[in-house]
Amino acid sequence: MGEDRRVPNRVGGVKISIENEVTGPRVFVVQNSKSSKLHITGGYGQPEMKKTLCGQKVKTPTLFDPRDTAARDGYQDHTKWCVKCMGFLDFEALDQIILFAAIEWPAGTNGQLSVVRHLSRKKPKLKLSPPPANLPSHKVEDVASSKIVLDNNE
Ligand SMILES: [Zn+2]
Repeated sequence: MGEDRRVPNRVGGVKISIENEVTGPRVFVVQNSKSSKLHITGGYGQPEMKKTLCGQKVKTPTLFDPRDTAARDGYQDHTKWCVKCMGFLDFEALDQIILFAAIEWPAGTNGQLSVVRHLSRKKPKLKLSPPPANLPSHKVEDVASSKIVLDNNE
């Protein structure tokens, strides 16, 4: 497989290797102190979660799920969020980026600024990993529900 020209090998000194552009490793929200901005860790950029996507040390053992923060009322204000982390989020998989879609910036929401750009591009093709060897299946009676499922992986 050839070199992917759209994804830099190194971003801000962090090696980023994207295996799948649609679904990827989960990102989490970090707040190093009560007064500080919300940063992002995990994903392809910081899989060990020792640093934030923007390169700050993670000084707390407590991480928040973006589904409990970024996707919730009260977290849309862009001034709560680290701008650099938002920029690096662009190199993460779409399913992680989309969790931050509701954050509002002066130029538009994160969804308009980042998600739409990923979806509307024309080339090259999306990079996808092969399905698991034993493809997990689900029974309708187990999964049919209108309830919000916050985490079905753990
Ligand atoms: Zn940051």
